[in-house]
Amino acid sequence: MPSVAFYTLGCKVNFYDTEAIWQLFKQEGYEQVDFEGQADVYVINTCTVTNTGDKKSRQMIRRAVRRNPEAIVAVTGCYAQTSPGEILDIPGVDLVIGNQDRDQIIRHVNGIRESRQPVNAVRNIMKTREFEELDVPGFAERTRAFLKIQDGCNNFCTFCIIPWSRGLSRSRDPKSIIKQAHQLVEAGYKEFVLTGIHTGGYGDDLDNYRLADLLWELDKVDGMERVRISSIEASQIDEKLLDVLNRSSKMCRHLHIPLQAGHNEVLKRMRRKYTTEEYFAKMQLIRQAMPDVAITTDVIVGFPGETDEMFRAGYDFMKAVDYSEMHVFPYSKRTGTPAARMEDQVDEEIKNDRVQQLIDLSEEMQLAYARRFVGQTVGVITERSAKDAPGRDIQHGFSDNYLQVLFEGGDELQGQLCRVKLTEAGVNECRGELVGVAGEALRSI
Ligand code: SF4
Repeated sequence: MPSVAFYTLGCKVNFYDTEAIWQLFKQEGYEQVDFEGQADVYVINTCTVTNTGDKKSRQMIRRAVRRNPEAIVAVTGCYAQTSPGEILDIPGVDLVIGNQDRDQIIRHVNGIRESRQPVNAVRNIMKTREFEELDVPGFAERTRAFLKIQDGCNNFCTFCIIPWSRGLSRSRDPKSIIKQAHQLVEAGYKEFVLTGIHTGGYGDDLDNYRLADLLWELDKVDGMERVRISSIEASQIDEKLLDVLNRSSKMCRHLHIPLQAGHNEVLKRMRRKYTTEEYFAKMQLIRQAMPDVAITTDVIVGFPGETDEMFRAGYDFMKAVDYSEMHVFPYSKRTGTPAARMEDQVDEEIKNDRVQQLIDLSEEMQLAYARRFVGQTVGVITERSAKDAPGRDIQHGFSDNYLQVLFEGGDELQGQLCRVKLTEAGVNECRGELVGVAGEALRSI
């Protein structure tokens, strides 16, 4: 039996794509082996979001070549899409295929086995208007299924290279999404995370069909208990979406809404499409539609031109929004983007200090959010178990509003939707007591 090994760098979308590529090999009779072992084919799914992503991708490609110089080394993903020449210059690379045409990967591998000639199969992705249809009927993790609904981005923020590696926004056909959702429910999944590069842009390229329409269709899928949107822009939350948040019992009370900066001048330089005032107003509408919602965000600190005063105003803004968690990143120059060429870059030391201040603020807000639920009962789908004392099994899982909850209970609870009363709040983990196992009342608080 031929063998294939994978290494994936970067975001959730890349991990999803790797699963899809594995399905193609599996159908051809391949077995999957560890990347650190000997394989006949190595697939490296690369990332280019930062300059470090490129470097790490090259390291992993070289590692694969060293493991088995006879193997076919295939490189895909974002770095492959933007820099195929650089990758083909690495001795031992056989195939470079970007973020499209992955359904051709087996044909290329078979061809290379015959010819032993390297192949550059990368095409210009900016011309692509079709979503790449690939089947993913299961995941290593059994409780939460990822459902890719969208690829690409039209935004061209000044710090980001991703539109050049993923192309313009493309939506998956709703019929294909619903079909895959049914398959995944059949396979036993209860929670679905809708993913994409710019997930909230779903429908922008479809006639009269928006994300809200898809969410209502998913609401009707029996056996699907929870739907989470991986990320959505404030500007993409409209009346129709607010209505789904308000009325669909399957929608998780959790939204990840990137802010990136809390000052209008910085937002403008980033070419983000909202002001802090518009963003704030949207958060209020969301909270009216979905009380107790957990709002999480991404923030970039130390963007070129960010002064102390701008940072301070941003800090106060974030505090006023009252997030339940913030992912804080120091700005890092990405070659090829407009921001990398901007003058007034911020000192690394200043950046690190600002990052720390926002991490502290995030932790304060995380704890305050969790404390609101102590004494209440939440629905928790258990994902893994551990022992915290001899003979005492502890289950870990997430509530619909993304609190990680630990409680005492046996392994028979794995993958079940449990009703858990929260007894203690923590920054990253909360403690609770099992009240019962429920199929109903996910948002029963
Ligand atoms: S919205 Fe901006 S940050 Fe997000 S992928 Fe598009 S260009 Fe990059």
